[in-house]
Amino acid sequence: MASPAPIQIRFERFDGALGIAPASPPRVASEAEKPALLARITERLKALDAVLVAHYYVHPDLQDLAQATGGTVADSLEMARFGNAHPAKTIVVAGVRFMGETAKILNPEKRVLMPDLAAECSLDLACPADRFAAFCDAHPDRVPVVYANTSAAVKARADWVVTSSIAEKIVAHLHAQGKKILFAPDKHLGDYIRRVTGADMLLWNASCVVHEEFKAQQLEDMRRQHPGAKVLVHPESPASVIAMADAVGSTTGIIQAAERLKATEYIVATDGGILHQMRKRLPGVTFIEAPTAGKGATCQSCAHCPWMAMNGLHNLLDVLETGRNEIQVDPAIGVRARVSIQRMLDFASTHLPQLKGSGDA
Ligand code: SF4
Repeated sequence: MASPAPIQIRFERFDGALGIAPASPPRVASEAEKPALLARITERLKALDAVLVAHYYVHPDLQDLAQATGGTVADSLEMARFGNAHPAKTIVVAGVRFMGETAKILNPEKRVLMPDLAAECSLDLACPADRFAAFCDAHPDRVPVVYANTSAAVKARADWVVTSSIAEKIVAHLHAQGKKILFAPDKHLGDYIRRVTGADMLLWNASCVVHEEFKAQQLEDMRRQHPGAKVLVHPESPASVIAMADAVGSTTGIIQAAERLKATEYIVATDGGILHQMRKRLPGVTFIEAPTAGKGATCQSCAHCPWMAMNGLHNLLDVLETGRNEIQVDPAIGVRARVSIQRMLDFASTHLPQLKGSGDA
């Protein structure tokens, strides 16, 4: 079966103009093909001393495979920690490019492979390193803090890297020291953190093509139809959607909130890929994707990241058989980027000890 044709994803650039980038869905594995593919991938992982590290947003087949072969399914913070701590010589990252780069930066001596190197992120695309450097240079009184969804070069220019699991705590920590902050690239996450911490934050202009699509009015309608449901929202969503949340959190935070709140029904505003882990952990509980349709919707993503969807069983096996798609990071950039990532990991080890070594957090 041939691969489906690429689709063109529109995203908002930092200057407000429209950016367009392709996303190429992989060849889909049929049910008949899956057993042989899974067996062959498992064999190749062992032969290569490789571990599969998957994000919550990739296809359930890859999530299950990562867990079945001793790898992990996690958010980007835990993916970085897991790959760093695991002894395997090769890390295979099923996610998007910045996750592969982070794995390489933390493990320059290891080989890092990805099913498709063209798996981008609209936040990364909307934050070119030269423009970000100029932004930092124009505001030397501010501490540059960047979201993990950025290139190695942007991380190298920042003082801190944060993921959504830990962004609030790190910004609150800097705010308590009287620091002013420059935050890039996600304007919704930055705005949310600014509101909850009260920090002085100057924000870059970019958003996630998935979370930007969640619509407050349609969410209100859905909540009326499901009066007992609790609403769980990722902070990359617009403020009007966050305002309706019973819990706001990273992917890991959303899963933990579902376990804690003990409702029988949840409406979930983040990429629908996360529902696979939620249903496995809480069987019998109903999970519904938050609505993306309605006024102003372009629904290019419909709660599924088109770049995360570029990870499939066929292209995963292909990289394990050929060694193609190895992530490379300029060593000089990698050394500088590692400082800001390591700062986050060190902070996490003291302030989020419950995540330490927890595997699929
Ligand atoms: S879901 Fe959004 S933030 Fe995550 S990789 Fe896709 S475009 Fe980037």
